[in-house]
Amino acid sequence: MLEARRPIQNLKAYHPPLSGRRGLRLDFNENTQGPSPKVLRVLQQLTADDLVRYPEREPVERLAAERFGVSPQQVLLTNGVDEAIQLLCQTYLEPGCEALIVVPAFAMYELLASSTGAKVISVPALSDFRFPTQSLLDRITPATRLIAMANPNNPTGVVARPEEILQVARAAADAAVLVDEAYFDFYGETLLSEISRVSNLFVARTFSKAYGLAGLRAGALFACAESLQMVRRVASPYNVNAVALACLPAALDDRGFVEQYAAEIRRGRTRLESAYRSLGIRYWPSQGNFVLADFGSNAQRLVAEMNARGILVRDRSSDPGCQGCVRITIGTAEQMDRLLTALEETVRSLSLPERSLA
Ligand code: PMP
Repeated sequence: MLEARRPIQNLKAYHPPLSGRRGLRLDFNENTQGPSPKVLRVLQQLTADDLVRYPEREPVERLAAERFGVSPQQVLLTNGVDEAIQLLCQTYLEPGCEALIVVPAFAMYELLASSTGAKVISVPALSDFRFPTQSLLDRITPATRLIAMANPNNPTGVVARPEEILQVARAAADAAVLVDEAYFDFYGETLLSEISRVSNLFVARTFSKAYGLAGLRAGALFACAESLQMVRRVASPYNVNAVALACLPAALDDRGFVEQYAAEIRRGRTRLESAYRSLGIRYWPSQGNFVLADFGSNAQRLVAEMNARGILVRDRSSDPGCQGCVRITIGTAEQMDRLLTALEETVRSLSLPERSLA
């Protein structure tokens, strides 16, 4: 058999449970309502001519720059944040160097960083999944070339303070520091304004969550022009497809849609957190469109029982420090009515032990 590079042979496969996702999908942190109607209108008007040509990213990049308040040289549109991570790994990592990852973390950081042959060092979050600033600082060496974190983090929903992240970025001047703000719209704090000042800082955003376009695969990577220029070199000129590029202007333009959706999600998040308090289930206050909660030895049964009721939720037990934890994505008001009824009935039927609040 053809021999793959050693780092690829050693990779753990990442197979999220994508097949047969029927019912209320609260398992992948997607938008549960749909994208802006303005985007749907653009989709309906696409013609053959839009498909025959190679897509041109640059005009949409200029629009995105304007919308996010950066210069066009400071933004690269990508095939989702997944590709942004891949491009960063390709640009900065090689065998012999190190990548630091705060865990639990989004799975693609470890997978893509280790695929380069770099050594991946997992730095565990503190108690209650707080950001481990000092442990990260302690692990920085001259070999550190990438530090990746999501803020808010997935699967915990916990955030780091901007000063903590900037302290790490300053201490690791030879490393690309990726702050993955995939869940920014449900939180509101960003480090985007720092990219001009901190040349090793990269900020990623996605159109997969609040914008409701996970199927189109579109994201954006921001950094100072000099650093981003290097990453741009490895990106295909056609990395973002024509359909996504046709839809993005409408998506960027309809700010009202994203704000309304994010506000509804924040209300739903408050409802779920308060249900957990009433049920005596330990949870971690979240700034994302999901909440992680500790169901202990009942986690698998809870997931199966909710599934049987047509509601998909995600067991995160295999993430570091997440044994017994289930992550539930927040939906619209009506979806939350359905979720909360099913959750309360299920918890009572499983007679989960009372737990003290974290
Ligand atoms: N970053 C984080 C923290 C995520 O949770 C996810 C998706 N679950 C992604 C990135 C992937 O984003 P995209 O769909 O833009 O590739």
